[in-house]
Amino acid sequence: MRQIRNYVDGQFVDGISTFDDINPVDGRVVAQVHEADAALVDRAVRSARRALNGAWGSTTVLERCELLRRIADRVEERFDELVDAEVADTGKTVRQAKALDVARAVANFRSFADTAASSSQKSFMTDLADGRQALNYAVRKPLGVVAVIVPWNLPLLLLTWKLGPALASGNTVVVKPSEETPGSATLLAEIMQEAGLPAGVYNVVHGFGANSAGEFLTTHPDIDGVTFTGSTATGSGIMRAVADRVRPVSFELGGKNAAIVFDDADLELTLDGLSRSIFTNTGQVCLCTERVYVQRGIYDKVVEGLVSRAQAQRLGKPDDPDTTMGPLISAAHRRKVLGYFEAAKEAGAEVLTGGGIPSLGAELDAGFWVEPTLWAGLDQQSTPVREEIFGPVAALIPFDSEEEAIALANDTEYGLAAAVWTTDITRGHRVAQRMNVGIAWVNTWFLRDLRSPFGGMGLSGIGREGGEYSLEFYTESTNVCVQL
Ligand code: NAD
Repeated sequence: MRQIRNYVDGQFVDGISTFDDINPVDGRVVAQVHEADAALVDRAVRSARRALNGAWGSTTVLERCELLRRIADRVEERFDELVDAEVADTGKTVRQAKALDVARAVANFRSFADTAASSSQKSFMTDLADGRQALNYAVRKPLGVVAVIVPWNLPLLLLTWKLGPALASGNTVVVKPSEETPGSATLLAEIMQEAGLPAGVYNVVHGFGANSAGEFLTTHPDIDGVTFTGSTATGSGIMRAVADRVRPVSFELGGKNAAIVFDDADLELTLDGLSRSIFTNTGQVCLCTERVYVQRGIYDKVVEGLVSRAQAQRLGKPDDPDTTMGPLISAAHRRKVLGYFEAAKEAGAEVLTGGGIPSLGAELDAGFWVEPTLWAGLDQQSTPVREEIFGPVAALIPFDSEEEAIALANDTEYGLAAAVWTTDITRGHRVAQRMNVGIAWVNTWFLRDLRSPFGGMGLSGIGREGGEYSLEFYTESTNVCVQL
């Protein structure tokens, strides 16, 4: 059986015990994962501190950017192995793992190498009333030893989104991947070694959250900050864990994202975009649409077109080129999603399509599949319209006026993403700007420029990552004031 070990101080290290890494396609155990205890997490943090205080601490930004580009090249060379690791852990389609997950890992390293290499800080020439002058300029320093905690839905993409700016800025990291998806972060350790990253700069510890590697890491007294992507509940626990030592956090949390479809929308473009935004990665992307507000004049057509697109989803093995949708990540997550399927029925939903577990044949029936599902008739205040489900499911709700649509879309405690579908470009801008979210798309979804700010409001997070915005979190600035 394949063994997935921790990576500490440049060495692969056994854990105190192992747990199963399960493939959600058919419930097979694909690897044994070595769980880190508190002592091993401590060793990882110490090794990260030593590396920070050692040669890594005196590297120049251009040297680090060069290293990031070498890492990107090695990721490309081992592209198929990383695709296999992502697919084995998540059951996502090979097509998606290639086009999105691993491709974005390469882009993340290259993009942050470019950003860091060209970043600058403002300086200020101060003219005082008494005739004195002073020059103020800021020097960026690494934040320090950064705890990087990531979820299972886009494991390598989300990890490298943090590693790019963290390493470019001269930090050292201790990574805690999700217990569901330990593979790619561990393979990346080999790549880091091959690319010449010094021991201790990149460490990986495996395990769970509470009373395991996640908690041991966030409560460790010698970390300088936590960058976390995951659920809102876990994020708020991490905030409490670091509160006494006042450590900074960067949080990318959950969403309950809305789409607004106006009568004048380009119907085919909108239906294809909506379908992608609901079913990509089996609805397990923080940016996925779970609420679709449709202007009444086009409502029936949107229902009809979306139902046919949901029914056209092909559930199957990841390497089958016809497969468009994989399973959910785990039995536990499926129980949660099925709980919302029940809650929707109790709240009076009309199940337009789906709503259950598909039958896919002997082998796959041991996996964690659910049907692509659409609901109508749900009240805005019902639980399935208010809580993040994180599955291939959306509620369709009609509206009459633009003001009503804006109010409905913003009626949530989350604030991650929204999409506006209209051919009236002025209205597109107007409505998008009024969305209380970190990113609002017009006539598209999940189109990303890695230099732009990314993050959420409300329960969806704290801070922005992307391009220069990431450098804000991963560095500390010292302002130097020189009287001339
Ligand atoms: P999760 O919060 O359960 O777990 C995320 C990570 O935190 C895992 O590595 C987990 O082991 C760790 N963890 C759990 N408890 C912990 C604790 N007490 N201390 C320290 N670490 C702990 O989230 P998940 O189920 O893996 O991921 C799905 C969630 O992630 C969804 O809510 C989704 O919206 C969110 N997400 C957000 C973004 C974004 O960019 N905003 C992107 C992807 C996913």
